[in-house]
Amino acid sequence: MSSEHRNVIIAGSGCAGHTAAIYAARADLKPLVFEGNEPGGQLSLTSDVENFPGFPEGVGGFEMIEGMKKQAERFGAEYQWGVVTKMEGKKPPYTLTIDDDATYTCDAFIIATGARARRLNVPGESELFGRGVSSCATCDGAFYKDQVVTVIGGGDSAMEEALFLTRFASKVIIIHRRDELRASQIMQNRALNHPKIDFAWNTEVVKVLGDADKGTVTGVEVISHPDGAPSDKPDSEVEKKVIECDGMFLGIGHIPNTEFLQDVLNLDEEGYIVTTKGKAVTQDVNTELEAVYAAGDVVDTRYRQAITAAGMGCKAAMEAEEHLASTRDLTTAS
Ligand code: NAP
Repeated sequence: MSSEHRNVIIAGSGCAGHTAAIYAARADLKPLVFEGNEPGGQLSLTSDVENFPGFPEGVGGFEMIEGMKKQAERFGAEYQWGVVTKMEGKKPPYTLTIDDDATYTCDAFIIATGARARRLNVPGESELFGRGVSSCATCDGAFYKDQVVTVIGGGDSAMEEALFLTRFASKVIIIHRRDELRASQIMQNRALNHPKIDFAWNTEVVKVLGDADKGTVTGVEVISHPDGAPSDKPDSEVEKKVIECDGMFLGIGHIPNTEFLQDVLNLDEEGYIVTTKGKAVTQDVNTELEAVYAAGDVVDTRYRQAITAAGMGCKAAMEAEEHLASTRDLTTAS
């Protein structure tokens, strides 16, 4: 199989990947971006981005991400559909396999593959996924006009999904496994004070009910933990009840897309890339491998914002540029 060689390859096309592409392209490195499984990343699924500086009225996530891509292309970044499924090498040039098919080599590799929505892994969930079960209120919310929907989770994603769904649904029930939310105060207040939003506290979904052939969800089977702790009784003895709903939305966090890096890079127990300075609280983008950088949600377990991902993408591209300039100077001098 023949390989094409590139200066810089970027895996992932969310906020971090696009920003890295803008900076690398402006440095005339002609980066090649593999868009990944979810082109545009999580931002493209976000309704309103209200906290990215420069947009006083907010901006649609999809609109913002499309703008970033066009900006990178304007400076010469090249985009291709495809997922990096394998990385080989302990120093540059690295070999990347795309969709288990084509191979590319590169002198610098920027990993901005982000994270995907976590699932509950309960019966009925996968059969009904895309048929009443969703992880994207922005994409699917409009299907639930005047209907009742449940949202699972207690973080910012769950609050954001629930608030967005109030535009369409007659009622939104947030089901949370504890009696305390972890969402930011402003999002909590909005959800707690919204007349269309109810909460089911200390409640765990154990099954999604519906008909996969008809593509309908009819409810979720739940168990309660009034004292906040999961019951130690056998499943058959735990009292279950049904919360009726027409759709269920997942807002329970994310899993980093790093499976292809398991044998080559240092990952933490949840699969996030560990950078040379440890956890991403430092916003460090350097990995243990020369000219391999990590940016955005694939490494950041703390901030996980569009603005911080963009910042990390910028840093990764600047590190790559400096590294390539220094190694090429050395090559020329020798
Ligand atoms: P998160 O903060 O990790 O929250 C995940 C929630 O899901 C938690 O409440 C957790 O419960 C619950 N959960 C996890 N696994 C579960 C399971 N198996 N069953 C039931 N519940 C489960 O994730 P996130 O909400 O996606 O937010 C991630 C980051 O992005 C945060 O830093 C957040 O601030 C940021 N974010 C910001 C915005 C915004 O500013 N507009 C929007 C979205 C996300 P426990 O609380 O019990 O652990």
